[in-house]
Amino acid sequence: MSAKDDAAAQVQELMRMAMGEAAAGRDLAIFSRMVVNVVAAAIGHSDLSETRARAGQGVGYGPGWHAARKAATERDRVCVNCGSDENLEVHHIRPLRLFRRKSDAHALSNLKLLCRSCHAEADRLFRATEATQ
Ligand SMILES: [Zn+2]
Repeated sequence: MSAKDDAAAQVQELMRMAMGEAAAGRDLAIFSRMVVNVVAAAIGHSDLSETRARAGQGVGYGPGWHAARKAATERDRVCVNCGSDENLEVHHIRPLRLFRRKSDAHALSNLKLLCRSCHAEADRLFRATEATQ
Protein backbone atom coordinates (compact mmCIF):
# COMPACT_ATOMS: atom_id res chain seq x y z
CA MET A 1 0.00 0.00 0.00
CA SER A 2 1.39 3.44 -0.88
CA ALA A 3 1.62 6.22 1.68
CA LYS A 4 -1.32 7.93 0.01
CA ASP A 5 -3.54 4.80 0.04
CA ASP A 6 -2.62 4.34 3.66
CA ALA A 7 -3.54 7.95 4.43
CA ALA A 8 -6.85 7.53 2.58
CA ALA A 9 -7.67 4.47 4.71
CA GLN A 10 -6.78 6.39 7.89
CA VAL A 11 -8.93 9.34 6.82
CA GLN A 12 -11.85 6.98 6.12
CA GLU A 13 -11.46 5.48 9.57
CA LEU A 14 -11.36 8.97 11.13
CA MET A 15 -14.52 9.90 9.23
CA ARG A 16 -16.29 6.83 10.61
CA MET A 17 -15.21 7.76 14.14
CA ALA A 18 -16.23 11.39 13.57
CA MET A 19 -19.71 10.29 12.47
CA GLY A 20 -20.14 8.42 15.74
CA GLU A 21 -18.90 11.40 17.75
CA ALA A 22 -21.21 13.76 15.85
CA ALA A 23 -24.15 11.45 16.53
CA ALA A 24 -23.25 11.60 20.22
CA GLY A 25 -23.15 15.41 20.02
CA ARG A 26 -19.44 15.72 20.71
CA ASP A 27 -16.96 18.28 19.36
CA LEU A 28 -15.34 17.33 16.06
CA ALA A 29 -12.43 19.79 16.12
CA ILE A 30 -10.00 17.04 17.08
CA PHE A 31 -10.95 15.03 13.99
CA SER A 32 -10.30 17.88 11.59
CA ARG A 33 -6.86 18.30 13.16
CA MET A 34 -6.15 14.57 12.89
CA VAL A 35 -7.23 14.48 9.25
CA VAL A 36 -4.97 17.45 8.46
CA ASN A 37 -2.06 15.70 10.18
CA VAL A 38 -2.61 12.44 8.29
CA VAL A 39 -2.85 14.22 4.94
CA ALA A 40 0.14 16.44 5.66
CA ALA A 41 2.25 13.42 6.57
CA ALA A 42 1.15 11.52 3.44
CA ILE A 43 2.17 14.31 1.09
CA GLY A 44 5.42 14.87 2.99
CA HIS A 45 4.35 18.29 4.16
CA SER A 46 6.27 19.04 7.32
CA ASP A 47 4.78 22.48 7.80
CA LEU A 48 1.37 21.79 9.31
CA SER A 49 0.46 25.40 9.94
CA GLU A 50 0.83 26.08 6.22
CA THR A 51 -1.31 23.04 5.36
CA ARG A 52 -3.91 24.21 7.83
CA ALA A 53 -3.82 27.75 6.47
CA ARG A 54 -4.39 26.42 2.94
CA ALA A 55 -7.21 24.16 4.10
CA GLY A 56 -8.76 27.16 5.82
CA GLN A 57 -8.76 29.15 2.62
CA GLY A 58 -10.86 26.43 1.04
CA VAL A 59 -14.30 25.57 2.34
CA GLY A 60 -13.84 25.72 6.12
CA TYR A 61 -13.67 29.46 6.72
CA GLY A 62 -16.90 30.34 4.95
CA PRO A 63 -17.93 33.51 3.16
CA GLY A 64 -16.23 36.81 3.96
CA TRP A 65 -12.93 35.29 5.02
CA HIS A 66 -10.90 36.49 2.06
CA ALA A 67 -11.96 40.13 2.54
CA ALA A 68 -11.61 39.96 6.34
CA ARG A 69 -8.12 38.47 6.05
CA LYS A 70 -7.07 41.23 3.66
CA ALA A 71 -8.53 43.98 5.90
CA ALA A 72 -6.78 42.63 9.02
CA THR A 73 -3.48 42.34 7.14
CA GLU A 74 -3.75 45.93 5.91
CA ARG A 75 -4.70 47.23 9.37
CA ASP A 76 -1.94 45.50 11.36
CA ARG A 77 0.81 45.11 8.70
CA VAL A 78 3.20 43.28 11.08
CA CYS A 79 2.86 40.71 13.88
CA VAL A 80 1.05 42.66 16.62
CA ASN A 81 2.84 40.54 19.21
CA CYS A 82 6.52 40.73 18.20
CA GLY A 83 6.61 43.12 15.24
CA SER A 84 7.89 40.55 12.73
CA ASP A 85 6.94 41.05 9.10
CA GLU A 86 7.60 37.44 8.07
CA ASN A 87 5.28 34.40 7.84
CA LEU A 88 2.25 36.47 8.77
CA GLU A 89 -1.08 34.79 9.48
CA VAL A 90 -4.45 36.17 10.56
CA HIS A 91 -5.45 34.92 14.01
CA HIS A 92 -9.01 34.56 15.33
CA ILE A 93 -8.86 35.83 18.93
CA ARG A 94 -11.99 33.81 19.76
CA PRO A 95 -11.68 30.66 17.65
CA LEU A 96 -13.81 30.15 14.60
CA ARG A 97 -15.19 26.88 15.91
CA LEU A 98 -16.89 28.70 18.81
CA PHE A 99 -19.05 30.75 16.46
CA ARG A 100 -22.34 29.51 15.12
CA ARG A 101 -22.01 31.79 12.09
CA LYS A 102 -18.52 31.82 10.63
CA SER A 103 -19.00 35.35 9.27
CA ASP A 104 -19.28 36.62 12.89
CA ALA A 105 -15.87 35.14 13.68
CA HIS A 106 -14.36 37.16 10.84
CA ALA A 107 -15.29 40.54 12.40
CA LEU A 108 -12.17 42.75 12.35
CA SER A 109 -12.37 43.14 16.13
CA ASN A 110 -11.85 39.36 16.41
CA LEU A 111 -8.83 39.27 14.10
CA LYS A 112 -5.19 40.13 14.56
CA LEU A 113 -2.10 39.64 12.50
CA LEU A 114 0.51 37.36 14.02
CA CYS A 115 3.67 35.72 12.72
CA ARG A 116 3.56 31.93 12.47
CA SER A 117 5.29 31.29 15.81
CA CYS A 118 3.23 33.86 17.76
CA HIS A 119 0.11 32.38 16.12
CA ALA A 120 0.97 28.85 17.27
CA GLU A 121 1.62 30.20 20.78
CA ALA A 122 -1.66 32.15 20.83
CA ASP A 123 -3.61 29.03 19.81
CA ARG A 124 -1.75 26.93 22.39
CA LEU A 125 -2.49 29.46 25.16
CA PHE A 126 -6.16 29.60 24.22
CA ARG A 127 -6.46 25.81 24.34
CA ALA A 128 -4.68 25.77 27.72
CA THR A 129 -7.11 28.33 29.21
CA GLU A 130 -10.03 26.50 27.68
CA ALA A 131 -8.92 23.22 29.26
CA THR A 132 -9.01 24.75 32.75
CA GLN A 133 -12.60 25.99 32.38
ZN1 LIG B 1 5.25 37.32 16.20
